[in-house]
Amino acid sequence: RSKDEGGGSHFAYEPQMHAHAEERRKLEFALRHALERDELTLAFQPVVHAETEQVMSFEALLRWNSAEFGPISPAKFIPIAEDTRLIVPIGEWALRRACEEAARWPSNIRIAVNVSAEQMLDASFASTVVSALASSGLAAERLELEVTESIFLRDGGAAQNTLQQIQSLGCGIALDDFGTGYSSLGYLRNNRFTTIKIDRSFVQGAAKDSPESLAIIRAVVAMADALDMTTTAEGVESERELDRIRQLGCTKIQGFLFGRPMGAIEAAALLARDADRKIA
Ligand code: C2E
Ligand code: MG
Ligand code: MG
Ligand code: MG
Repeated sequence: RSKDEGGGSHFAYEPQMHAHAEERRKLEFALRHALERDELTLAFQPVVHAETEQVMSFEALLRWNSAEFGPISPAKFIPIAEDTRLIVPIGEWALRRACEEAARWPSNIRIAVNVSAEQMLDASFASTVVSALASSGLAAERLELEVTESIFLRDGGAAQNTLQQIQSLGCGIALDDFGTGYSSLGYLRNNRFTTIKIDRSFVQGAAKDSPESLAIIRAVVAMADALDMTTTAEGVESERELDRIRQLGCTKIQGFLFGRPMGAIEAAALLARDADRKIA
């Protein structure tokens, strides 16, 4: 054993770190079987038009109810799925399931599906999208894929290439959590996004009259308009946040104020209510 590895002076052994690694290993093991054990489901969260409040689309969000550990939040299991590349088969399942569900909805309602960098950089991703559309019968225009700027970090060229393939099918591409990552205007110049999703932290800032948040949202909305993209404000929880976001001119709103992520049956019921309201 070298001196560096020994009961090290500057690398103190932390029992917490060990517990954390142990928990992660157990979750990873359970996640390997989650698909075949039917432990994964999708929740659907409505996205409404900022002015009319009509439901425009739903975002599909993965849920894991582990037989062993109970419900595990995506914030915990998605990073594990990404590190182990389990996100490739899990994400494919989510994509197929989302398209299948959306195909039952009225044809003006779209579905958004999150895609991780590991999926995007997988050579077969575009053909998986083609296959999910074909077997569900969903029109490509009704599918929007949500990516974050992190997809450009490892192999920007490959990511851009896949985005182009998907776009040429007719699918939309949303840039998720905008403003929190490695926001570079180059990504907006070199890729055609349909939607920019403004992260909840800016929505919160705007409601607290943070001049920075207000200015940034204003600038993003103006830029989106100029580049022919729409904006969605994420995580709108209160009337005050809604008012601010409306004043700022965001196109669409997603948040607990209008609806939490819900099961497929509830989502269909919400659409039926929305359609009734339109007729009334
Ligand atoms: P995201 O794509 O940014 O999804 C939005 C998250 O914000 C969801 O968390 C949603 O439940 C939450 N949210 C929505 N409205 C509100 C609100 O008003 N207030 C607050 N505080 N939160 C709100 P969730 O479902 O826990 O998902 C977390 C993240 O996990 C997602 O963030 C996404 O990055 C990832 N994820 C979820 N499903 C998938 C999937 O199928 N594939 C991949 N690759 N990632 C996924
Ligand atoms: Mg998303
Ligand atoms: Mg988001
Ligand atoms: Mg987010």
